Amino acid sequence: MYNAESISKVLKGELLQQTGNPEIEHVLLDSRKVIYPATSVFIPLVSQRRNAHQYIKELYEKGVSNFIVSEAPELAQYPAANFILVKDTMSALHSLVAWHRQQFHIPVIGITGSNGKTIVKEWLYQLLEKDYNIVRSPKSYNSQIGVPLSVWQMKPEHQLAIFEAGISQPGEMEHLEKIIRPTIGIFTNIGEAHNEGFLNIRQKINEKLVLFSKSEILIYCKDYPVLNECVLQFNSLVGKKENQEGGLQLCTWSRKTEADFRVMSVEKTGTHSRIEALHKNETLSITIPFVDEGSIENAIHCWVLMLHLKIPQEVIQQRMDQLGNIAMRLELKQGINNCSVINDSYNSDLGSLNIALDFLQQQQQHPTRTVILSDILQSGKSDASLYEEVASLMRQKKIDKLIGIGKNIFREKKCFQQVEGLKSSFFLTTEEFIQQFNQQDFQHETILLKGARVFEFERIGKLLEQKVHQTILEINLSSVAHNIRQYQALLKPTTKLMAMVKAFSYGSGSFEIANLLQFHGVDYLAVAYADEGVELRRTGITMPIMVMNPEPSSFDAILQWNLEPEIYSLHLLQQFEEEVQIAGKTGFPVHIKLDTGMHRLGFEKKDIPELAAMLTDNNYLTVKSMFSHLAGSEDPELDELTRQQGKLFYEMSYELQKALGYAVIRHISNSAAILRHPDLQLDMVRLGIGMYGVDSSEEMQAQLKPVSTLKTTVSQVKHLNDGDFVGYGAKWRAKGPAITATVRIGYADGYPRRLSNGVGKMLVRGQLAPVAGVVAMDMVMLDVTHIPDITEGDEVIVFGESLPVQQLAAWAGTIPYEILTGISQRVKRVYFQE
Ligand SMILES: *Cc1c(COP(=O)(O)O)cnc(C)c1O
Repeated sequence: MYNAESISKVLKGELLQQTGNPEIEHVLLDSRKVIYPATSVFIPLVSQRRNAHQYIKELYEKGVSNFIVSEAPELAQYPAANFILVKDTMSALHSLVAWHRQQFHIPVIGITGSNGKTIVKEWLYQLLEKDYNIVRSPKSYNSQIGVPLSVWQMKPEHQLAIFEAGISQPGEMEHLEKIIRPTIGIFTNIGEAHNEGFLNIRQKINEKLVLFSKSEILIYCKDYPVLNECVLQFNSLVGKKENQEGGLQLCTWSRKTEADFRVMSVEKTGTHSRIEALHKNETLSITIPFVDEGSIENAIHCWVLMLHLKIPQEVIQQRMDQLGNIAMRLELKQGINNCSVINDSYNSDLGSLNIALDFLQQQQQHPTRTVILSDILQSGKSDASLYEEVASLMRQKKIDKLIGIGKNIFREKKCFQQVEGLKSSFFLTTEEFIQQFNQQDFQHETILLKGARVFEFERIGKLLEQKVHQTILEINLSSVAHNIRQYQALLKPTTKLMAMVKAFSYGSGSFEIANLLQFHGVDYLAVAYADEGVELRRTGITMPIMVMNPEPSSFDAILQWNLEPEIYSLHLLQQFEEEVQIAGKTGFPVHIKLDTGMHRLGFEKKDIPELAAMLTDNNYLTVKSMFSHLAGSEDPELDELTRQQGKLFYEMSYELQKALGYAVIRHISNSAAILRHPDLQLDMVRLGIGMYGVDSSEEMQAQLKPVSTLKTTVSQVKHLNDGDFVGYGAKWRAKGPAITATVRIGYADGYPRRLSNGVGKMLVRGQLAPVAGVVAMDMVMLDVTHIPDITEGDEVIVFGESLPVQQLAAWAGTIPYEILTGISQRVKRVYFQE
């Protein structure tokens, strides 16, 4: 049992104040995620930009009474709290969890590598859950913060632990090693990509290998030559250092050369692969329901590990055949009757339930939040206390409606019936729910589907989700959050961030993106037109919203929905002021646009005296901010111009500010200026395209993650003879026998017609296929002669991670902005969080 006293000893911290000594069960790092205040210890992390010590007060008020801090608080304010003072809160978190880890003597599998960590971890769980009570990292929690949170979940009832570890710079793995202390290691693979943060690939491998410094055995594939060399070298060093005989035991597998586990053949038949291998002079085989190379590699890792754990080959064979897809992400889809559906129906455990509920809670767009939940299997707790805990989660996360499916949750339904404001109903089986399903019971709700695999919730998903046209734009919300953090890291702590969500968030969605921005503490939103702002307000966005084109016909809406207009002329100022007056309001916020050279909208220098006179001592209007827009912040050739714009803005805003006599936010930087013109940061920056993963500077681009993927599918494959033509106007002809694939996207979806006849290309089965003939309204034909085995229904990537939208824009002779905002609304957006 842990409490402030014992933890303080472990951390060699100073117990600044002790007023009680309650049991501590939970580690809390994110102030927004407090669920068990009484039994949590809050550890405020400090980064360059954020100092979480500022949330202590709020958490204390919510009932948290244990804190590990690196800055002494004013103790008198917190009479009932325990404070442990340490040098650095991140190190304290690491030491605390490393110590927790030492309390357990069970096999711990540590997984690292470039790709496949999460899949291998989740597959091992699927493959071994019948043999062990397993604790594992939720989702892909593998960072300096994710790993401690994962390992903290270890409890006495667990028999096997599986944790993944990922790093982004040298020095990090040492910490993760102490926390995970794996007894068994898996190094999945090493990719060339993402060397950022490291000098070269060897340095990256060596750093990752640190995870296995104290392990007994390491499983890896010899077919990556550099990896193999590094492992051998590492092993000789570790052996010497630790004084162990021969060091770490290596268990190798290979598809090419001799190894402990020699893969002899891989045969693919339609949807399955049969893998045959030689192990200890025996020929073994498995069949898996996947054909892609990544899955084959992942399955072999799992196979070798299971043999090491002495699972009988017949059992392995039988379980491998049933491997399932892994939900790597939480998807938000459009549902029936104006609902949104989050489908997370591949597993159910408390850790992932918690994450899914957080995602659900972020969604403001519908008045009702509904959870459809199956029995939670293998939690290691008694049912009664398990469902008590789930019920308290429902209360904390303000869930309105719960549908429980399964024998156990059914038996414990009274826990839920006691939760105030929660409507609940229960079914013994998924089948029973489906029998009684009535579409009309679901209206304007955000519905989370969360079930263990055996409950086959995908059948419920089919009933609730809207059928989608097979061309979709996938939007990775985690990447948006990541990109925002990259820019935030460049800002002074006091600089505010305005996120540009005009034009449907550059084509990526409205409330879905805005919910995320609100959650991540962005300060301001900006839209182009009032109706975009109204839509955001209607879906529960409460943060301030600036409207850049406030037409007089929209003044009503602006006032009614508390939107904040950009004012760019004296005439507009007069009109708006009158409207405010008539509405009987005072001090209404406005933003003043200054023209510093772009000559689009805004006041010019000569207007300032008159503008100042109108705004000074103005009862009706309050100036929230003054801003201007840069014409070429991305272009080194225009740096002089940018400097002049900055200078003029400085002068104009100074003059106006002086006249007003109160503090006004000043801003001029767009995405590109944040990195390139740090001196123009001022009080706020306006982040647009960068948030969506595109920046004109290579340095910045390398830090961003792509946000959207436009994909479609093959509707028909055609075999042509020499001279056959394709498409309107017969603009393309086969030179010799050829194969084309017709795909479901056209210029009406936003695929530019300029990409006709080989100008544009799409990715099919990982290879580029040029457009054959002209782009039609709803269809495009691709020349796939050189790509084997294309079939109807194959996925086609129009742009995405491996085919950047910048490339597509370059082919079309335009800029990524135009491509992104041009994707038509008939293309369904699917959102997900990793
Ligand atoms: C669109 C817009 C931005 C954002 O520009 P990016 O280049 O996408 O960062 C900033 N300010 C104004 C006034 C805009 O209209």
